[in-house]
Amino acid sequence: MSLLVIGSVAFDAIDTPFGSTGKIVGGAASFISLSAAMLHNQVGLVAVVGDDFDFNFIDSLKQRGVNVDGLQVKDGEKSFFWHGKYHMDMNSRDTLVTELNVLGSFDPIIPESWQQPDYVMLGNLSPQVQLTTLSRLTRRPKLVVMDTMNFWMDIAMDELKQVLQKVDVLAINDEEARQLSGEHSLVKAAKKIQAMGPSTLIIKKGEHGALLFGEEQIFFCPALPLEDVFDPTGAGDTFAGGFIGYMARSGSNRFQDMKKALLYASCMASFCVEKFGTERLQEISMDDVNNRLEEFNKLIRVD
Ligand code: AMP
Repeated sequence: MSLLVIGSVAFDAIDTPFGSTGKIVGGAASFISLSAAMLHNQVGLVAVVGDDFDFNFIDSLKQRGVNVDGLQVKDGEKSFFWHGKYHMDMNSRDTLVTELNVLGSFDPIIPESWQQPDYVMLGNLSPQVQLTTLSRLTRRPKLVVMDTMNFWMDIAMDELKQVLQKVDVLAINDEEARQLSGEHSLVKAAKKIQAMGPSTLIIKKGEHGALLFGEEQIFFCPALPLEDVFDPTGAGDTFAGGFIGYMARSGSNRFQDMKKALLYASCMASFCVEKFGTERLQEISMDDVNNRLEEFNKLIRVD
């Protein structure tokens, strides 16, 4: 089952109350594809970077088994750059800088061998690019999952609503769900957002876990309680990568399997926050993932 991932591959700079980074590798699709490729072996990436990018990172994606035929490198141009600053609670943050650079004119060219993917993860990107990506697929995928953020709600709400009509699952955080729906109650927000298109909605609540809203059911999965959260950047993308990676591996699009996918998603996200950027995701093994899944099972099991 092939899984196409599209999203930003970027440089980030992160400030937390406990330390700051210079420019490090980030971007939604970097986290998604590292996470998904941990669980599934047919992951293809469509993205764009400038010639200033860190190409060692691209090598490590390849080593993880990610197909990068759809990665464009723009000579003489700069990669997307995002600078974020976390508040003391590490759950909320401010965006200090967003420089679109190569993303501003990104034309998502999908290699021919990836034009009929079974699963698609539309990572955080301009809704226009997300729409173009879907229009270039030559067959309706089995499952399309989408992420977005307040930045796009502020500047491209109309296009965002068009993408929503074409996807099966939307994965956003609680603040974004409230902004998109205009509702404070997450249950009411979910109903409104599901009426906009996606039959399934995932609302991520950071350290407080995630809710999965189906057509008639709601499921909840906690986040693993961790002693130290070092850098939450990319946790949402890593979560989405774990979710769709598991769905692609299982070959399913059923709600029942999405519950288990949520567990894998939370498990993958718990690694992401342990170090800055993609560092922790790059070093973990499948044994680490299995051990952590066991911790999750203990956390939620009632004998
Ligand atoms: P998350 O912490 O999961 O919300 O995702 C953080 C990642 O999103 C960072 O690595 C950023 O590079 C990326 N990002 C931030 N703003 C944007 C944007 N407007 N478009 C695409 N990617 C973004």
